[in-house]
Amino acid sequence: MDVVVTVPRLPAPGETLAGGSVHQVPGGKGANQAVAARRLGAPTVLVGAVGADGFGTVLSGFLDGERIDTAWVRSERGPSGTALITVVDGGENTVIVVAGANAAVSPARVTDAAIRPSDVVLLQGEIPAETNESAARAARAAGATTILNLAPFRAPSRELLAAVDVLVVNETEFAQLVGLGVGGGGAAPGIEELLRSGDRLAAPDGAPLGDVVVTLGADGALARIGGEVLVVPGRRVPVVDTTGAGDCFCGALGASLAMGLAPAEALERANAAAGLAVGRFGAGPSMPTEAEVAEALS
Ligand code: ADP
Repeated sequence: MDVVVTVPRLPAPGETLAGGSVHQVPGGKGANQAVAARRLGAPTVLVGAVGADGFGTVLSGFLDGERIDTAWVRSERGPSGTALITVVDGGENTVIVVAGANAAVSPARVTDAAIRPSDVVLLQGEIPAETNESAARAARAAGATTILNLAPFRAPSRELLAAVDVLVVNETEFAQLVGLGVGGGGAAPGIEELLRSGDRLAAPDGAPLGDVVVTLGADGALARIGGEVLVVPGRRVPVVDTTGAGDCFCGALGASLAMGLAPAEALERANAAAGLAVGRFGAGPSMPTEAEVAEALS
């Protein structure tokens, strides 16, 4: 659950400050990505956990309302995963994420999940690393396609990289992944050069990287898929709230690949979907529908 408070400025340590508004908005990377995938028309199963608190009840109700299969979402003792977000009017924000029940999503929870060859398994960093490893292994064994969104960034093991088909990172995460000082505005040329370099594209420990998608915020995305570099220009859109933009991109990409679209088309669709999500407040509820994305692309 994202608890979002607006403030005129950030408080100093020890200071009590009056906030403007407070909203509780369903969030969490896995849930946001599942909502994006489902709204884009892909039958979606979420494997995860909520806490035995009021947030857990609201989050489960939200996911059910989105027609996401929640048979694998367990209620765990303790709090739900929670993000405390402070938004300074018209500017910067701070985010504190507490894993809560998400820390209880153990490898055993995933290996029993029935994964079919036609499935796309979408993983992200708000569940334990060993769970992602076992999920990627199970997906590979089942012949499914695995997308790993390395957010929040955590250096992936060689084993995880080897079991994943597509990595999705933003500019900062890409810099962390390849151990480079790129990131920040205007980094795209350096990233594109590295993506084009092929063999040189590796993690700092030398582990080779396969297919990679780098999202570039307002500048769209760059990708290296099957050895080919794809450039997806950013869409000129009014921006309200960029929370969940990356999640929308990942969910839409996963849904589009699962529906059989070629990578270039799937990336266009993900970019259009994320461009719509930044025009709305919140994360989970801001995800666009299939019809909205189709209209944006027409
Ligand atoms: P993250 O939210 O993970 O940091 P990005 O900021 O790169 O990821 O955004 C993910 C995607 O969302 C981008 O690739 C793009 O498709 C879309 N996006 C983000 N910000 C904007 C923006 N200002 N205008 C248009 N599209 C945007």
